[in-house]
Order: sequence, then C-alpha cells, then structure tokens
Amino acid sequence: MSDSPLIHLGSLMRSSEDAHAEGELSHLNYEQGGQPLTLTFTEPAPYEVSVNALSGNEMYLQGSFEPTITMDCARCLREVEVPLELDLGTLLRYDPAAEAPYLEEAETGEEVLVFGDPTLDLSGYLAEMTLMSAPLSVVHDPECKGLCQVCGHDLNDGPCEHMAGVPVEEIDDDLGIPQSSGHAKQTPFAGLRDLQLPDE
Ligand SMILES: [Zn+2]
Ligand SMILES: [Zn+2]
Repeated sequence: MSDSPLIHLGSLMRSSEDAHAEGELSHLNYEQGGQPLTLTFTEPAPYEVSVNALSGNEMYLQGSFEPTITMDCARCLREVEVPLELDLGTLLRYDPAAEAPYLEEAETGEEVLVFGDPTLDLSGYLAEMTLMSAPLSVVHDPECKGLCQVCGHDLNDGPCEHMAGVPVEEIDDDLGIPQSSGHAKQTPFAGLRDLQLPDE
C-alpha cells in the first residue's frame, strides 16, 4: 500500500506514451489553504488512473477510485460506513510554475488539474473528488429513531421517559416531568412510536 498516489508523467510528456498507475490507499495526506489534512478510509481504497496526451501541455486523466469513508448518522451520531464509487475524468495541464497540483476552473466551466512536477501526486485531487461526491448527510438505518431531544438518550436502544411511546401512567412523577409537558408528542419521532424495530 503506497503512501501517496503518484503517477509518473515524464515519459508521456517526452514521447506521448500513456501513463498508468494503480494501488490501494489507506488514507490521503493533502493540504487545504496551507493546512495539512488527512482523509482516512475505512478500508483500503483501490484506485486506477491512466493519462493520455492531448495537445501542447494538456493531458486527460481517467480512471476510478472506490473509497469507503466513515460519517456520523445524522440522527443518532453513530458511525456509518459510506462506500463511494468515483468515475474520474479530468483535464490536466502542465505548468512548470505550479508548485503543488491544484484544480482550476477553465473558461468552459470544466475543472482542470494544473501540475508542475512530472511525478504527479494525486493526493489532493483524489481527496477533493472524494469530498465532492460524499453525501451531505447519512442515516445508519432509514428507520433510525435518533436521540431524545431532551436527554440525548439513543432511542434505538429503547424509549426514555420523554418519549410519547411510553404510556403516561408509566412515567414516574418523581422524575420531575412537568405534568403539562406535551412537547414529547410533537417530536419528529412521534409518528414512529408504534414501530417495532428488530433488534440489531
Ligand atoms: Zn442512526
Ligand atoms: Zn429523553
């Protein structure tokens, strides 16, 4: 497992031979706004890229990348594995003045990966592609009941005393629940109160 996904473009730039690289990544080290960041994958993420010469300083990169990332369930915050399948297709432009590879928007609106070192490090590119294709939020189960908005109890583990699912007569007055407390019936989960979920 290599540390950085490198593709060697020197001979492609001299003789227009196609370049190819593949491997597996446990993580990507990259920079964003000068800050070193690490994107860690749940399991080794296979990648495969090839680059063809176009004209002048331009090349075309295509390939695939299949990272699995870990996100928090939007309702109960437990960890969720999110497998992604990325189809890569990006214009490359060689610019000897570029210190580190960066994505630039061309006049056509298309993104162009600009690089200055013929040994192109795809870390930042693959990290950005991964983050762009990740969903904004996930749930660990479509029927996740979430957390109690009063006490933070994970309602997937069973109801707490704030849940409308608990018959009123079972609520112990000694716990200090206000008699007039009707908010529990208005939680987004009230509709789920009669659902029987299988144990995990
Ligand atoms: Zn959940
Ligand atoms: Zn509660």
